[in-house]
Amino acid sequence: MSRRMIIAVAVCTLLVVSLAAVAAVTTGGAPSVTVTPQVHRNGDQGYFRIVVQLPHGAPTAPPALVPHVDEGDLYLVNALAAQTGNDVDDEAEEEGDGAHTGQEMTVTGRFGHPGPARLTILARSAGGSPKPLMTLAFNLPEGDSANPGVRTEWARQQQIVLSSADPEARDSFNHYWQRVIAPQYGLAKSIGGDTARFRSEPPDLYSIFTGAAAIQESLQLELLGEGAQSPVQQKAIKKAKEGGGDGVPLSALTGPAVKSHPFREMLKGKSPQLPALAASIPTDQYAVFFSDIKKEIELADLMDEWGGNLLRQMETSARDFRVREKVSGQLCLENSWLTKLFGDRVVTAMAFTGNDPFLKEGTDFTILFALKDRERFRKQLEKRYAEAVAGRGAARSEFTVAGKRGMAVVSPDRRVSSYTLILGDMAVVSTSRPALERIVAAGEKRLPSLAEADDFRYMRTIFPQNAPEEDVFIYLSDPHIRALVGPRWKIGEARRMRCAGNMALIANARLWFKAERRREPTFTELAAGGYLGKKLPVCPDHGEYAIDKNGEPACSLHNRPGFLTPVGEVPLERVTSEEAAQYRAFVENYNRYWTQFFDPIGIRVKMGQDIRIQTCILPLIENSWYDGLAAFSGRNPGNLAETAVLPRTVVSLRGHMAPEWLTKTDLVRHLTEQNGLSLDWLGDEVALNLCDGQVLFTLGGRAMGMLGQEVGRSSLEPLVIGYLASALNLPTYLTVKVNDPRQAVEAIPRLFHALGPQHGRGDDFAIETYSLEDHRGRPLYVANFTLFVVKLRLYAAVVGDRLVIASRRDVITDLMDAATKKQGKSGAQHEGNMELSVYRSAFKELAEVVNLGWQEDQRHACQQNLPLAAIMLKGLGMPEDSLSKATFSLRGYQPYCPAGGRYIVDPQTGAVACTVHGSRSRPRQPAVGDESSPTLKLVNSLEKVNARLAFTPEGLMTTLEIRRKSGR
Ligand SMILES: [Zn+2]
Ligand SMILES: [Zn+2]
Repeated sequence: MSRRMIIAVAVCTLLVVSLAAVAAVTTGGAPSVTVTPQVHRNGDQGYFRIVVQLPHGAPTAPPALVPHVDEGDLYLVNALAAQTGNDVDDEAEEEGDGAHTGQEMTVTGRFGHPGPARLTILARSAGGSPKPLMTLAFNLPEGDSANPGVRTEWARQQQIVLSSADPEARDSFNHYWQRVIAPQYGLAKSIGGDTARFRSEPPDLYSIFTGAAAIQESLQLELLGEGAQSPVQQKAIKKAKEGGGDGVPLSALTGPAVKSHPFREMLKGKSPQLPALAASIPTDQYAVFFSDIKKEIELADLMDEWGGNLLRQMETSARDFRVREKVSGQLCLENSWLTKLFGDRVVTAMAFTGNDPFLKEGTDFTILFALKDRERFRKQLEKRYAEAVAGRGAARSEFTVAGKRGMAVVSPDRRVSSYTLILGDMAVVSTSRPALERIVAAGEKRLPSLAEADDFRYMRTIFPQNAPEEDVFIYLSDPHIRALVGPRWKIGEARRMRCAGNMALIANARLWFKAERRREPTFTELAAGGYLGKKLPVCPDHGEYAIDKNGEPACSLHNRPGFLTPVGEVPLERVTSEEAAQYRAFVENYNRYWTQFFDPIGIRVKMGQDIRIQTCILPLIENSWYDGLAAFSGRNPGNLAETAVLPRTVVSLRGHMAPEWLTKTDLVRHLTEQNGLSLDWLGDEVALNLCDGQVLFTLGGRAMGMLGQEVGRSSLEPLVIGYLASALNLPTYLTVKVNDPRQAVEAIPRLFHALGPQHGRGDDFAIETYSLEDHRGRPLYVANFTLFVVKLRLYAAVVGDRLVIASRRDVITDLMDAATKKQGKSGAQHEGNMELSVYRSAFKELAEVVNLGWQEDQRHACQQNLPLAAIMLKGLGMPEDSLSKATFSLRGYQPYCPAGGRYIVDPQTGAVACTVHGSRSRPRQPAVGDESSPTLKLVNSLEKVNARLAFTPEGLMTTLEIRRKSGR
């Protein structure tokens, strides 16, 4: 469109406005204005534009004017005041300003059927509820009319509304719209915020930790030609291009070259008892064994409670992937039904197994049952299957695996996908038929099973079958971990992720098509209409894309987001040279940084009021962390007692010291050699304790998150580190066991002195030592350290069999009082080398800070959903109650507020907000005392968390104990 034409359009608009103003009629405060809109219409796609003078003093900020359709087939209507531009050209705007000095409003929108129409413009003023400002009555004429400026201006207003819904360009729909749709209207993309976020994090499909949702966003950008590639990928692609050719057979690729432990040798002379179901689980799969269904349900509840709240919290994401509902829905096995089977003694034991952990994205999942009453099991399952056929659109079928007949119910979208085989006194129910075939093959010894695997058998000597400490046993075998980093799984998963990225783009395109055309598109329509950008998305496995009647995109091979086809079901024989090069780069990297053994992981869980989780780290060779710990505490467990721990202690770290280690440290050498101090009285236990108190500063969540990632991306670590970090300025005390209290008391002044400055240092560092009045007949020493202007005072005394050095006097006197009254923490004793206790119930002054921190984290997580909610509710005019469902089919997760809020268009401000946390510009948060949120309830239900390390002949035994408050 030429510039002259735009000016002509603008001048016409002004004429229309003048005419409209004449026809103003006042009705009950809000004037009704009859206007003649400008119209562009081509078939069923109509656009209109109205420009009117705003009454004096009307609010003009973007969310202030809200159009409401009273009559007519109007949609995607936006009203903006003049400063946001009533024309597509700067020159034209200047002319407009010259002609009209007052405020103007431009209303644009789409229409379907022509005919009479009426719009009420609501105005919001700060703090007040919206009031009708004026009503616009107009007629939309029949027939086509070419007025492309109207179309462009509608698009421009839509762009402004979408951009202001997501000002920091956080949501991938915004990126899609700006890159694919805006150019179709001749608009430049307008993206605020930090788009570098995507570019700085290229999608590394071969990284060890894959966050599917984040990767999909980056993949979409790559598809649209704006993504980044990591140096590793660039190098790989360059290499592949140099190599040329048409691909590589998968068999030519080998996984990381790492050794296994010599399990056969380690097993020598031992024959552990094994779970019966282990004979049917292929050795390269993970396995979870349950002795009792109640334990499975308890664990699932716990995972929901923790996984659903706490862990997601730590990842600061308020997205619910509904994994539990999804998998039990696929299998047609609900917990209530399983409980009944166990209760009636139809089933005696149960195990879960699968090939990969991609439960969020979609994978195979198999349950094995040891049966007592196979006929009742079959009848019950038949009933479940009949219900799935009747109510969930699934089809019933039969199949044969290795000569054995099974039954299945499957729906085309895989929301129901259940295959069952009953083999003697075992039943196998799986979401995947190939996965079921593997179970049969393992049972018939055509595939190696866990029961025959040396690593599993060895682990069962450490964690014996039927031990009273075991309710659940989780096992990740050596071959399983190996398979997950092997070429078959890595490349298969990378292809799946690429396909899922394509489907994310298709889902965004479909969302816009539906908003604009008000019906579901077909894939062909999206492609032909330019909704998918210039380069059409291609499935890396040559699957075909389609959109089903519910508007969900699907690939003929990879199915759909959230229900992706398991990696093992998509054949993979040849890979492209690019994939081969990328995989080789991954292996090279892996070999460089992960040269340790592949360690199988066995985890034993005891459920109940107190939860105990144990795992054994097999001896690591040439590992500095492992060697350091072994040197510090000796390779044998000592005694870890909770003596001399005050009730107001919040964190206590206790360790067992090896005397050999102690004598080698610089400090002790310095003390004994240069000061002639005898340390014969020193025992072998040391503890560092932190007390409850006011915290002056806390480390931000971001720093916590960063630390957490450094430590290894485990979600619980930031919590622990956060507690430790915020406790830095709390009262602390160190206790050391002493063998001879009398000698220890005498040593205190000299000990302090030895810690002080050496001869020859100036006045800037000084120490003075004196003793205070005795408390309960015991001497108490004080050391004043002065460094420049900072003065640190330490107090020391011997209490019972402990030398205590504290940052505050009352800590020591309280300990002395407690020693005479036999108070203090329950004197629990454990064998071990190191133990960390967090006494949640002792958090009093600290509780406020911790709770406030939680509330802040929740708010941040919640607000990450606001851009998408704003796009859906405001940009596309979707009703509030359909947000959750629409997002699940768009993205495969439901956005939710961790504090229980809802996402709404705030009637006061017009901005999209959470009912609990407010909007981006006006955030709010519940008062600190409010403990009703599920996450806080969970945190506050804890009494104590204990983590313990103990060297055993088998390796390093780690135990995590979670004590929950009674009366929950
Ligand atoms: Zn595909
Ligand atoms: Zn919220």
